Amino acid sequence: MSNTPNTSAESSLPKENFAETFSELGLSEAILKAVTDKGYTKPSPIQAQAIPAVISGRDVMAAAQTGTGKTAGFTLPLLQRLSSSKSNKVSSNNVRALILTPTRELAAQISESIETYGKYLNLHSTVVFGGVKINPQMMRLRQGVDVLVATPGRLLDLYNQNAVRFSQLEVFILDEADRMLDMGFLRDIKKVISALPRSRQNLLFSATFSPDIRALAKTLVNNPLEISVNAENSTAEKVTQWLTAVDKKRKADVLIHLIKENNWQQALVFTKTKHGANKLTKQLDAEGITAAAIHGNKSQGARTRALAEFKDGSVRVLVATDIAARGIDIDLLPQVVNFDLPNVPEDYVHRIGRTARAGNTGQALSLVCADELELLWDIEHVIQQHIERKVLDNFVPVNTLGNSRPIRPLKPKKSKLFKKSGKSNDGRGKVEHKDGQRSGSNANGNKPKTPNDQARRKQPENNGGPKPRRPRR
Ligand code: AMP
Repeated sequence: MSNTPNTSAESSLPKENFAETFSELGLSEAILKAVTDKGYTKPSPIQAQAIPAVISGRDVMAAAQTGTGKTAGFTLPLLQRLSSSKSNKVSSNNVRALILTPTRELAAQISESIETYGKYLNLHSTVVFGGVKINPQMMRLRQGVDVLVATPGRLLDLYNQNAVRFSQLEVFILDEADRMLDMGFLRDIKKVISALPRSRQNLLFSATFSPDIRALAKTLVNNPLEISVNAENSTAEKVTQWLTAVDKKRKADVLIHLIKENNWQQALVFTKTKHGANKLTKQLDAEGITAAAIHGNKSQGARTRALAEFKDGSVRVLVATDIAARGIDIDLLPQVVNFDLPNVPEDYVHRIGRTARAGNTGQALSLVCADELELLWDIEHVIQQHIERKVLDNFVPVNTLGNSRPIRPLKPKKSKLFKKSGKSNDGRGKVEHKDGQRSGSNANGNKPKTPNDQARRKQPENNGGPKPRRPRR
C-alpha cells in the first residue's frame, strides 16, 4: 500500500516542520529499507510527529485511530531505539519493550508489523494472547525478547507464573487505550503498570482523549508530547454512509439482494451477537455467497483462517462482532454493513473506520429496523450528522422506522473512572467476550460467565480498586 493515511494532525509542533520523507526522521538504514520494501513513500502526520519524539526518549500521548498509520508511528521509532542501544542484552524471561493491546487480532497485527519493519535488525519479538496454549509462549519468553506484544489477561497469567519479568523494561506502549477501558481492562492495566520499573518511556495511543483516558494518562505518562490526528472526521468524509429501513425478519433478504445486485466481492458485516453472526453466515452460504464468521467463540485458528480467506478473496463476506473486528486491517475494504446497529454508538465509528482506510473511499450501509431507532439517534448524535436514508422498493418495512432527531451539539463527557455509581457503561447489558481476558476458569473461549460478570468488569472503579497513581517514570 503506498497511499499515505489521509489524516491531519494537531500538536505542539508547527505543521510546516513535519517531515516529508522517512529519511528525515532519524531512522537507521536498516529500518528505512524495510519501510521502502513496504512501499511507504511519505510519513503520515502521526508518524511525522511521533517518530522523532519517541526516538528522543519522550513520552507520547496520541489520539489516533487505526487507519492513521499509528502502528508504524510507534513500532518504527521503538525498533530504532532498541537497535541503537545493543549493549542492553536481554536476559532470560525479560523484555525490553512491552506493547499492550486489547484484542488478539490487533496483537497479531502489531507483531506482524514489528517483524516486517524489523526484518533487517537483530532484535527478537514475540506475541502472547489468550485462547491458545500458554506453554509455547513460555518457551519463547525463556530466552528473553526485545519486544513483547500482549493482551492483558494472558500477560498477567505469564507474569504470575514468573514467565515474564520487567526489570529490563525500557519502553511501555498502551495501544487502543479507550477500547481497553471499554472492555473492562482498567484493573489489569493497573496491575501491569505496577509491575514495571519506574524509569521507563511511556507511549499511550487511543482513538480519543476522553476524560477517562486523560485520567488514566495522569497515572502513566510524564510531560508527554500530545498528538491528535483527525482520523474520525476524514474517515467520515470519505465513507459514503447510508441506511435503509427494513423489518428485522427481512434483514438477511435485503443483504443477500444487495450483495447479488451490486456484485459485492468483499463486504465486512457486523452483527450484534455471536449467534446472529453464525446464523447469517449460514443464510449467505445457502445462497451461494461464501461467508465466514469471526467472533469470540471461534478458536484463534478459525479466526485467523477466516480473516486470511477474506483477505485473499476466497470468502466474500466476513460476518463479525465488534470486539472480534477491532483492529482488523484490510487494505481497500470497499463495503461495511451494519446488519445490526451497535449498542455503543462509538462502535459505529469504529465499524465504518474499517473502510475508506489509508486515503481510499468506501461505503457503509446500515440495515435499521423499527426497534433500533434509539440506537440510530445515539449514533447520529455521536457522528453529529444524519445518515442518508434510501428506500429499497421491494423491502419497504411493515414496521415503519421513526424519524431522526435534530442534531444537538455534543456535551463534554466526564471521567467515569472514579465514579461511584454501580451501573455499567452503556446500561444496556452488552454481552460480548473480552479478548484479552484471563485464562483459567474462562480460558475455553474466553467467555464471561454472565452479563452481570461483564457489567461488573466494566466498573472497575467502584470495587475499592487501587487509587490512581502519581505520574511516574
Ligand atoms: P494503522 O493505522 O497502523 O492500522 O495503519 C493503517 C494502514 O496504513 C495499514 O495498512 C498500513 O500498512 C498503512 N500505512 C501505514 N503507514 C503508511 C504510510 N506512511 N504510507 C502508506 N501506508 C501506510
